[in-house]
Amino acid sequence: MTIRLVIGEATDVGKVRDHNEDGYLVDDGLGLVAVADGMGGHRGGEVASATAIEALHASFTQHGGLRDAVVAANDAVLDRADGDEALRGMGTTLTAGVLGDDGTLLIGHVGDSRAYLLRDGELTRITTDHSLVEELVAAGELTEEEAERDPRRSMITRALGLDSDLVVDLHPVILVPGDRVMFCSDGLTNMVSGREIADLLTKEGGAATAAQRLVDAANDAGGVDNITVLVLDATGDLPADVVEPRKRRGIFRRRV
Ligand code: MG
Repeated sequence: MTIRLVIGEATDVGKVRDHNEDGYLVDDGLGLVAVADGMGGHRGGEVASATAIEALHASFTQHGGLRDAVVAANDAVLDRADGDEALRGMGTTLTAGVLGDDGTLLIGHVGDSRAYLLRDGELTRITTDHSLVEELVAAGELTEEEAERDPRRSMITRALGLDSDLVVDLHPVILVPGDRVMFCSDGLTNMVSGREIADLLTKEGGAATAAQRLVDAANDAGGVDNITVLVLDATGDLPADVVEPRKRRGIFRRRV
């Protein structure tokens, strides 16, 4: 069966920060999505996430190959930082997904943005955070619940823009109709528990409604960071009223 995606997105600066350093990409035509959470002073974070998203899209459009596109994004962030003293040291997370013809969603991942799968009402995290607290959880020194509240949770151990030698995690997910996949920056997961996320994703409503509902929940909880959420609904057949507006709207949406 052919799998198609209905994709909804929402992003917000949150309640504390004065600008949004998250970037995202939705290309319905390519079946390519990404979330990037930039870091670095002096607007470096915004530049890093935007540079990564642009380079990922350009590389994937030209050559295909998700891992190569993530590596190209890393190279682009390093090059950009190299050419500008004010941007030195900037970096970004990148969690990207592309739907293959066989209905497999391949996810390429670096950093602590996340991808989740909601299937039959059960929420599973697909990605592993490249962070200090996740390593402590893996080592049995912290529980998942303790990690959600640990003050060190923003310390990441892998990101784009740090080293030209990049290790990219790849996670293939074979989608079935009814699956809902969610990509997000840590502005969601630091504010809203996994249980609440599961509840909100299971409520009535389409992909865009679900994405906005999660962003609103993070803001209601304090919104201390930028929040970006993409929701991908896997379907076997698209109703005509879903296909047509998307065509009119153009295939490439992004905020960079
Ligand atoms: Mg963040």
